[in-house]
Amino acid sequence: MSAKSLNVNEKEIEKFEKIASQWWDLSGDFKPLHQINPLRVQFICQHIAQQDIDTHSNNGVFDKQVIDVGCGGGILSESLAKLGAEVTGIDMGTEPLNVAKLHALETGLAINYQKITAEEKALESTGHFDVVTCMEMLEHVPDPESVIQACAALVKSGGLVFFSTLNKNIKSYLLAIVAAEKIFKLVPDGTHDHDKFIRPSQLIGWAESHELKCIDASGIHFNPLTENHKLIDSLDVNYILCCRKL
Ligand code: SAH
Repeated sequence: MSAKSLNVNEKEIEKFEKIASQWWDLSGDFKPLHQINPLRVQFICQHIAQQDIDTHSNNGVFDKQVIDVGCGGGILSESLAKLGAEVTGIDMGTEPLNVAKLHALETGLAINYQKITAEEKALESTGHFDVVTCMEMLEHVPDPESVIQACAALVKSGGLVFFSTLNKNIKSYLLAIVAAEKIFKLVPDGTHDHDKFIRPSQLIGWAESHELKCIDASGIHFNPLTENHKLIDSLDVNYILCCRKL
């Protein structure tokens, strides 16, 4: 299949290819992702543990089949694998995947990384996964609803799908584009396109039309000056959703 017929924006992929070598540099371009990662892991594990009465005694993801869609260099994939999940990470960037594979070798984690779109993977592994994570990826694809549909197809019925992205409003423009890219240069200029940000109501609507019921939502507060990060009620800027497959 040609890149054009895939749900892939080659320019977006190129941006991540160029900076992939920095993926595990804790003070580099991916510093914000490293900083919010523990909060994502906390949110994900808490919800899996709540769903699953058999897992009181563990952290929620232990032994679960997880697929991390748009895994990049593997920040979340590795955290979940360390907790005992069987993780598959998929991405359409060659360099991010190379970095992810090398890093997993260094850390001694067995993670199955593949270059494949969510849509193609959904055709070959329908209903295979207990948990699907799709973090900070929907705002980089031409058709986010198609990725949501694929995530819904990848998960087992009763399983959980987690999405995180950026809300679309003036505040997210000022914080995620003006402050993060232009003033504080936390991430490279042009990392995000405000038009591609997604309102929670829109994301929840897409999810529900593909049999994913949104059961919780949380904001992710991130203050680069105070280095303060926490889960908050407000979904104004960064947010994460937990959906259950009906
Ligand atoms: N989910 C990771 C990385 C986010 S960066 C994390 O939050 O830690 C966004 C990633 O999405 C990049 O690695 C980029 O290569 C990937 N990506 C962008 N478009 C994609 C597509 N259509 N299919 C798969 N991956 C894609």
